[in-house]
Amino acid sequence: MAIASVNPTTGEVVQTFDPLSDAELEDCLTRAATALAPYRQTPVQARAGWLAAAASLLEEQRDALARLMTLEMGKPITEAVAEIDKCAWVCRYYAEYGADFLAPEVVATDATYSGIHYDPLGIVLAVMPWNFPFWQVFRFAAPALMAGNVALLKHASNVPQCALAIADLFAAAGFPAGVFQTLLIPASRVAPLMADQRIRAATLTGSEPAGISLAVAAAQHIKKTVLELGGSDPLIILPSADLLRAIATAVKARMINNGQSCIAAKRFIVHTAVYEEVVAGLQQAFQAWRIGDPADPATQLGPLATATIRDELQAQVEVALAHGAKLLYQGNLPPACLQGYFYPPTLLAEITPDNPVFEQEFFGPVALLFRVDSLEAAIELANATPFGLGASAWTNDGSEGDRLIRELEAGAVFINGMVKSDPRLPFGGIKRSGYGRELGRAGILEFVNIKTVCRY
Ligand code: NAP
Repeated sequence: MAIASVNPTTGEVVQTFDPLSDAELEDCLTRAATALAPYRQTPVQARAGWLAAAASLLEEQRDALARLMTLEMGKPITEAVAEIDKCAWVCRYYAEYGADFLAPEVVATDATYSGIHYDPLGIVLAVMPWNFPFWQVFRFAAPALMAGNVALLKHASNVPQCALAIADLFAAAGFPAGVFQTLLIPASRVAPLMADQRIRAATLTGSEPAGISLAVAAAQHIKKTVLELGGSDPLIILPSADLLRAIATAVKARMINNGQSCIAAKRFIVHTAVYEEVVAGLQQAFQAWRIGDPADPATQLGPLATATIRDELQAQVEVALAHGAKLLYQGNLPPACLQGYFYPPTLLAEITPDNPVFEQEFFGPVALLFRVDSLEAAIELANATPFGLGASAWTNDGSEGDRLIRELEAGAVFINGMVKSDPRLPFGGIKRSGYGRELGRAGILEFVNIKTVCRY
C-alpha cells in the first residue's frame, strides 16, 4: 500500500509520501537510541510536565487535528473533535497519576531493603491502525513516555498526515528530540525491525494477520509484545431491559466511527420475548441515521476508510446472504455519497453457525441479529466466537447481571452501558482479540522492567 492521504469521501488522492530510505530509517533508530540514555534519567515530574503541555496543545489545535482525521479516514467531525479531547484526557491522566504508578514499592523480606522498582524498557515500536488515528497512538504513547521509554510510531499507511502531526505535537510539547518519532514505512518493513537490538518491545493494534506477523518476529528475538486485535463484540438484550435505551445504545455502538471500531457492538443477541420490538426499533433507528459528508457536524455516518474495506464488507454481506442470512434492513446511499467509499446501514438476521460469516468481524455499519430463548443461550452464543474483546448486556435483573459479568468471555463487560475505553480502566482482549492491556495502571506497567531490588 502506498503511503498516501486519500480522501474517502471523494476518492481523491490528497498527498503522497515517500517511505523512509534504509539510511533515513537508520538515522531514526540512532536518534532514538541517543535520546534514550538521557530521557530515561529525566525526573517523572519533567515527563508529566511535557505530557500536560501535549494535552494543552491538543486542545489548542483541536479543530485542525480533528479535520485531518476526517480528511484522511472519514471520521464524522463531531467524533473527531471528541477523539482529540480524549487524547488530552489520557495525557493529563498519566501526567497526574504516572508518578504514583511508577513509585518504588517496599516489600518486607529478610533483606535490609527489598522492593519493586519500575524502570523503562527502552525503545518501543508502536504499529497502529487508522481507525482512531490519534487515540490509538496517545493511549500507547502517554503511559510509555511517562515511564521513560522512547517511542517509534509506524502508523497505518493511509493516515500519514496524522502520523506526522502527532510527532510534531510531542516535539512542540517539549519532549526531547528523538523521544517520539514517526517512521513512514510500509508494513513489510516492520518484522525485520524486530531484529534490531535497539528496539526492546512492540505493540500492535490492528488485524490478526498483522498481529501474528509482529508477534512471530518479536518471538524470534525474545521481545515483549502487546497485541490489540479484532473483535466481534456481543450486545445482549434481555426481557427486563430498558428497551429504548438498549436499542439507542446498540445503534450508536454499531455505527460509531462509521462502524469501524474494534469494540463496536457487532452481534445483537436478543431474547425472543422482546425480539420483534427490538427489530422494529433497530430498523427505525437505522433508517433515521444521517449518512453524508463527515465534515458536516450533522453527519452520523461517513464513508469507510478505504475502497478495499468497503469492498470486503460488501463481499461478507454477499457471503452471509448466499448462506441463508436474511436481510432485515439496508439503507440507501444519498446521491452525494456514491463517489466515496460509503456503505449503507445494514441489518442481517438468521445467521446460522454453518454460515462462513458466523465467526467473522464485520468492520462497517452492518449488524448481525440473533434470537435466543434464554440467558444461558445468550451467554453461549456471545462466547461462540474466536474473539474476546468487549461484551455488553442489557438487563434490570441484578442476578442476571452478576452471571453475565462472571460468564462472558471478554476483556471488558458492560451492563446497561456501551463498551468504551477510559484512561482510568484497563483495556484489552482475550482469545484472538490479543493480549496485554492498555490504559489504567496495567497499561503503564506493560512497558517497564519490573525490577526486584534487595539490599543486605
Ligand atoms: P491492519 O491492516 O492490521 O493495520 C494495522 C497496522 O498494522 C497498520 O499500521 C498496518 O500498516 C500494520 N500492518 C499490516 N500488516 C502488517 C504486518 N504483516 N506486519 C506488521 N504490520 C502490519 O488493520 P486494519 O485492517 O487497518 O485495522 C482494523 C483491525 O484492527 C480490525 O480487526 C479492528 O478490530 C482492529 N482494531 C483493534 C483495536 C483494539 O484495541 N483491539 C483497536 C482498533 C482496531 P499498513 O497500513 O502499512 O498496512
